[in-house]
Amino acid sequence: MKNGQPAEGPVRVGLISLGCAKNLVDTEIMLGSLLKDGLEIVNDAASADAVIINTCAFIDAAQAESVDTILESAQVREAQNRGQALIVSGCLPQRFRGELPRLLPEVDAFMGIDQVAQVSSIVQQALQQRAQRMRNAERKTRNSKSNAASRLAELNRHLAATTHDQEETLGGSEKFDKTKAAIAQRAPRAARRARVGRPASSIRHPASPLVNVQVRPSYIPDYATPRFRLTPRHFAYLKIAEGCNHPCSFCVIPRMRGSHRSRPQADLIAEARQLIADGVKELNLISQDSTYYGFDLRPNRAASIASPEKFSAAAKNLPATAPTLCTLLRELNALAGHFWVRLLYTHPAHWTDELIQTIAECPKVARYVDMPLQHIHENMLERMRRETSRQYIVDLIRKIRADIPGIAIRTTFIVGFPGETEACFQALLEFIRETQFERVGVFTYSQEAGTRAAKMENQIPDRVKKQRRDQAMAEQLRVARRICASFVGRTIKVLAERETSENELRNTSVVSWEHGLIREASAGRSPLDHRRYFVARGEADAPDIDGRVYVRGEQPLGEFAFVKIIGHTDYDLIAEPA
Ligand code: SF4
Repeated sequence: MKNGQPAEGPVRVGLISLGCAKNLVDTEIMLGSLLKDGLEIVNDAASADAVIINTCAFIDAAQAESVDTILESAQVREAQNRGQALIVSGCLPQRFRGELPRLLPEVDAFMGIDQVAQVSSIVQQALQQRAQRMRNAERKTRNSKSNAASRLAELNRHLAATTHDQEETLGGSEKFDKTKAAIAQRAPRAARRARVGRPASSIRHPASPLVNVQVRPSYIPDYATPRFRLTPRHFAYLKIAEGCNHPCSFCVIPRMRGSHRSRPQADLIAEARQLIADGVKELNLISQDSTYYGFDLRPNRAASIASPEKFSAAAKNLPATAPTLCTLLRELNALAGHFWVRLLYTHPAHWTDELIQTIAECPKVARYVDMPLQHIHENMLERMRRETSRQYIVDLIRKIRADIPGIAIRTTFIVGFPGETEACFQALLEFIRETQFERVGVFTYSQEAGTRAAKMENQIPDRVKKQRRDQAMAEQLRVARRICASFVGRTIKVLAERETSENELRNTSVVSWEHGLIREASAGRSPLDHRRYFVARGEADAPDIDGRVYVRGEQPLGEFAFVKIIGHTDYDLIAEPA
């Protein structure tokens, strides 16, 4: 776009993806649709004709990051490429579709989760909208210039009749420079974030952005949907379902992403087959609740089933041909090729004996499960509406570990939930200590508007939430060190990802966990010397969120290899070729 006019050649689009792996798959679908429709994708967003920001709005911090990114992009556009269309997609418009057009008037178009496959036409509409806005702005400038000319003429007439002193004040440059600086300055971050949630009337908005957001999303991609993968060649995310039927009192996801809807099993198998043929060695199954896969497809289905007892009973009554996570895992396991299937986002209430047996019997399913528990104290589980009791969770973990030898369990907890007493928190610490989870992440509770938990009494101060998060992670650090140490001397299978950089070799110390391990320079000497290392992952490490295996010497990238563990850091292993 030049001065609001389309440039020669295909429309050039930049895309910024925020948030989780599920959002990343939506981004990949948008890229696939744009390329199929002949648009060009560019890395340099500043020079693109249109920029799409695929946002996250799960918790406060994610919203803040989304708003910051939108406003930063609008600023870059203002400085460098005023004709550029700005489009915001994903969870933020899905959650705040009513408010955002007034709160973020810089944006030309908002689009929802259901519109990902129509992105090309939305880009075209946004470009037209941008061009129209540019024309309006020019008209306004011309009008204000002629207005200014008539005012100046009036001023001159007035000045002719006044003293020289007054003329000097008006002609001085100091005030003008100050005004320029004030206009150019960015608003402080806190003020920019505060715009979401501020009364709309307090914000100036020249013309309304386009809004294309379905209130209750129902879209689910299929194998034929074009997709341009952003993950490395050797791993991919396979979205098996979308939406969630659970009633968790702290969570906005069901409101944003709609009800649970599974993809047909044949469609998933076709996609998996294609990904494996393309060189994928690890299929990461994702959804909001992978264990509910297929249940929405069953004939004569009643309301959704949340509690473990009802779920187990319903699972037993399914017709033999009904698709479930078990049938999907067995069919994936039977595909030809050398690959792992990694199971992410399972719900503890929906585990069955059959699922445990299925994983145990499918060697291609990684000995790893992701099962967010959120808490262990009975009061907290009840207030969170997790449908699981402490005893049920303890028994389930015991059974999973007994029946699937070598399995690594990843979980997440929320600390600082309303009403979490010191005794509740201590019970959680004790549970972390006793259970010795292989992988743990801890979130501080985020008070999300529109949820039951947000209205609960006894909200916990931020300072206490952070202290508890740090304490819980410190408890897990001791567990993680012991688990890493237990691997020394063993030979394990890993997937080699890439060569390490000098910076990575220095930054091996884990300083915090925010959706994944955050690494910084080691305070002492790095346990890694200056030899050549490769970053690999074992079965117990999911991409981006878990630990790594640093392997000395040459490794074939994107391939499996056997390595011998010779040392460890806090959360990572150090190895050499076996
Ligand atoms: S299971 Fe609970 S926490 Fe997870 S997406 Fe559904 S409502 Fe949210």
